Amino acid sequence: YSQKLQLSEKTEVISQLAASVAHEVRNPLQVSRGFLQLMQERSEDPKEQNYMNLAIEELDRASDIITNYLSFAKPQPDTVETLNLSEQLKHVKGMLLPLADLQGGRIEIQIHPELLVTGNAGKIKQIFVNLMKNSIEATGENGLIKLWAYEKKGSVIIHLEDNGEGMDETMLARIGEPYLTNKSKGTGLGMMVTFQLIEHMGGELQFSSKIGIGTEAIIRLPGGLLK
Ligand code: ADP
Ligand code: MG
Repeated sequence: YSQKLQLSEKTEVISQLAASVAHEVRNPLQVSRGFLQLMQERSEDPKEQNYMNLAIEELDRASDIITNYLSFAKPQPDTVETLNLSEQLKHVKGMLLPLADLQGGRIEIQIHPELLVTGNAGKIKQIFVNLMKNSIEATGENGLIKLWAYEKKGSVIIHLEDNGEGMDETMLARIGEPYLTNKSKGTGLGMMVTFQLIEHMGGELQFSSKIGIGTEAIIRLPGGLLK
């Protein structure tokens, strides 16, 4: 037992350090990107333009990794609040709409306006960005991502369903392992982080999936209806 406690203390320190690094690294990335873009626009050499394009793409990839990993987890210790789930998810949907549009998918959210969850706003957003991003990436044209939630036995249960490519049993058994990815530019870190964040909140995450049919994630978080 004491060993477990030590391990979780270590994880806490590491995740705070990582969050600070992510925060510090994001600004110089953005500044470099801005200058590269400026140079690209001014350049008249197609070869040079192409190189700068590649450099910009790689910087975007680095930013993506940070977003995937801990963009919303602030370096400061957590503030735990009672949050309106519907509002939090509206914000997440707004962030993901450009990606969904690009893929030709739709996001439908149906949540009671008085459903509350207890946790850190940044971390809750991170959880749903990671999950919904995977759903969007798994669907093609006519992609449909549905999210609904309700109160059950003093918890909030959230269902996230997509009609994407699905996962086979082997994949399903391994989801959450670091570096597990089926994407050429994936990190395989999103679900590992998501499981950790949900467990840290005292919640639970379960997946069910069928190849060619889609995937459903069921998330339990502390919370309930406004009383
Ligand atoms: P990444 O998105 O960078 O690949 P994740 O940790 O977010 O890493 O996801 C790990 C893997 O789990 C994905 O590459 C994919 O194979 C699988 N996966 C996760 N969510 C879904 C989903 N909704 N539909 C199909 N496969 C999924
Ligand atoms: Mg992912």
